[in-house]
Amino acid sequence: MEFALANRLSQLPPYPFAKLRTAIAEKKAQGHDVISLGIGDPDKPCPDIVVEELCRAANNKEDGNKDRYGCDQPVAAFNEAVISFYKRRYGVTLSADQVCATMGSKDAIVKLCMGIMNPGDMAIAPCPGYPTYNIGHVFASGTTYRMPLIAEKGFKPDFAAIPAEVKRLAKIMWLNYPNNPTTATADLDFFKKAVDFARENNILLAHDSAYSENTYDGYKAPSILEVAGAEDVCVEFFSLSKAFNMTGWRVGCLVGNASAVKALKLTKDNIDNGTLRAIQSAAAMALNNAEDIFQQVNSVYKARRDMVIEALKKAGWPAEVPDATIYVWAPVPDKYNGSSEAFATDLLDKCNVVVTPGRAFGEHGEGYYRISLTYGDDVLKEALKRIVEMGS
Ligand SMILES: *Cc1c(COP(=O)(O)O)cnc(C)c1O
Repeated sequence: MEFALANRLSQLPPYPFAKLRTAIAEKKAQGHDVISLGIGDPDKPCPDIVVEELCRAANNKEDGNKDRYGCDQPVAAFNEAVISFYKRRYGVTLSADQVCATMGSKDAIVKLCMGIMNPGDMAIAPCPGYPTYNIGHVFASGTTYRMPLIAEKGFKPDFAAIPAEVKRLAKIMWLNYPNNPTTATADLDFFKKAVDFARENNILLAHDSAYSENTYDGYKAPSILEVAGAEDVCVEFFSLSKAFNMTGWRVGCLVGNASAVKALKLTKDNIDNGTLRAIQSAAAMALNNAEDIFQQVNSVYKARRDMVIEALKKAGWPAEVPDATIYVWAPVPDKYNGSSEAFATDLLDKCNVVVTPGRAFGEHGEGYYRISLTYGDDVLKEALKRIVEMGS
């Protein structure tokens, strides 16, 4: 018997490049050495002290609650570490009811939508953007209004262009700076405008801060909670995934507006029962040593970023140097007439290298492609050598 998928699954956007995916599989089947630079998932291990703390906490016979539900037995050290990190790093003061441990931001983005949105509600998401915002809206039976991020505006949305009807129906607006996929950053002035917009329109402003600590050349990304009064209308998703090389651990936090944090907690209590205590302890260890860890993690990406920029220049396809994130976002070379799929397909054809077509992040991503810096130096060097040969 074959069961039909629920409507909500058929509403998820189809993978837009089925042909490219098939072509990659065919190339691999033919024995070609296909190198993917497509996915943002750190290749390096997380720091030893974090693994050691996980083992210690998992083995701690004195903690009678170590194996019990994480939401009923939260680890005080985790909340304290989040509060201390936000204070040190951003000068932001959080109270205990403004913090909720998550199983990573992806999971919590969808659950916050389920905790805040009713069927028929709208939410506003950036385009191009991280696809999970829209997936959250679909799972909550709502709809998405896509606000364009365009190069001429520094990949920032134009709030004045959002229609009145959308402002009336929207419950949540998503922002993400430093941004995936465009690598754009935002300053406090922009965040202040966003907070004002959210307040005027009675919308929860959810800022996805996944790359706030993947920054280079002295750039420091602000937290949206640095805006005075932001906690009236804002939450921020902080994740250990990209900054600490911990994607598989599934741990982060939601901080900010207490009523929205409560909505996420209630949703999680009824679905996932929280994060294993040993993982919370290990995450606390990571946060308490954040400054040293970021330095090590980012030095690797900075070197790779410079390699990619240099190679693209040699290929005759110059790209801007990003201040942040683990990506390079580059315009499609002229001869492809702005078609990111045509470029990605040709790159695969001619040199067995996979990049992500910008169109995969929404229609306004067209004309660009994304290279991820999460591939080992040798693999990256080989891919870049092929790209330089093809370009020049
Ligand atoms: C990778 C990524 C996430 C996912 O983070 P997890 O905490 O691992 O779920 C969230 N937002 C953006 C923009 C990302 O690129």
